[in-house]
Amino acid sequence: MEPTPVYLDNNATTRTDPDVVQAMLPFFSEQFGNASSMHAFGAEVGSALSAARKQLQALLGAAFDHEIVYTSGGTEADNTAIFSALETQVGRDEVITSAVEHPAVLSLVAHLEKTGRAKAHIIGVDAKGRLDMEAYRKALGPKTAIVSIMWANNETGTIFPVEQLAELAHAAGALFHTDAVQAVGKLPINLAESEIDMLSLSGHKLHGPKGIGALYVRKGTRQRPLIRGGHQERGRRAGTENVPGIVGLGKAAELALAHMADEQTRVAALRDRLEKGLLEAIPNSFTTGDPATRLPNTANVAFEYIEGEAILLLMNREGIAASSGSACTSGSLEPSHVLRAMNVPYTAAHGAIRFSFSRENGEADVDRVLEVMPGIIARLREMSPFWREREKQGAAFNPTYA
Ligand code: PLP
Repeated sequence: MEPTPVYLDNNATTRTDPDVVQAMLPFFSEQFGNASSMHAFGAEVGSALSAARKQLQALLGAAFDHEIVYTSGGTEADNTAIFSALETQVGRDEVITSAVEHPAVLSLVAHLEKTGRAKAHIIGVDAKGRLDMEAYRKALGPKTAIVSIMWANNETGTIFPVEQLAELAHAAGALFHTDAVQAVGKLPINLAESEIDMLSLSGHKLHGPKGIGALYVRKGTRQRPLIRGGHQERGRRAGTENVPGIVGLGKAAELALAHMADEQTRVAALRDRLEKGLLEAIPNSFTTGDPATRLPNTANVAFEYIEGEAILLLMNREGIAASSGSACTSGSLEPSHVLRAMNVPYTAAHGAIRFSFSRENGEADVDRVLEVMPGIIARLREMSPFWREREKQGAAFNPTYA
């Protein structure tokens, strides 16, 4: 009999909640109107877009619903924030970000620098993934257009002090944007009481549909559209709205808010039991990230001297889904940029696995992972020349990777 699948890759994406699907369905059929139309078909869709905005406003604790601009997801929201700031912040062309951002920010900033449109300051992190505050303070200046620093890291779960960072950015006259794609729905957020100017979120990370997200833009913050060509979203994002997606995002936000208080503690307990069990059963394994300030749902565990991809393959055979930060795409075999920025040694960064929980996980998932992981790791280590060398040389063993 096939084992029951265990899905622990919720930072990559989550299952769309069945209630979200139900909420979306009418907007594929009976309620098909275009919100811009001057008739009843359009009006009912217009009301649905407004209702979803209110649901998001509640989740974000935003002062006004019109501070929310729908986008095609987190990536578009991040791009909009940064491009917009470079246009509106006249005389300022510098962007500050961190070395551990999602590529939606990091590769955009690299592109802007390469094409001469911005000067980038990439701030490093310490071994726990915490921002180098001294370097951040030094980088801020009269040319800083925008600071874009994530609320929580997608690989390690490390949470950044966004309020403090925003205050410092404002003192330098810069805008502050946060990629909160991994935080929204997992942590309480109260933007009405915050200094954050812009915030990105994504539907599919909170049991909503894929291809929908939003950019929060504080009232009074000037914002230029990334996508032009229509008056939708009060001229801030052109294109006929993804109505089913928006309705689904709204419902997902409502559910996330309703579950938040209970889920934060329940999911953190599952995560902690998993980590403890793995570290106890498997030698030469450790957790990465900041145990003091991190997302409740994320565990990143490094298993030394083996490859993350091989671990994932064997886990997959057992029906367990997680992810590794290392990208062997483009054949580079470079481990995750996040773990490298934290100076996690190659021997461990290569074998790091991210387990990310959601409200759909339970104790049985943890039991199953704890049952199979020790065997998987032992098997791979038997085949690992590094591990065999380590056994011979002991702790002094310090291999270099080409
Ligand atoms: N930012 C972070 C931190 C993410 O984890 C992701 C998704 O992996 C994104 C941005 C991109 O969001 P989307 O898939 O909605 O474009």
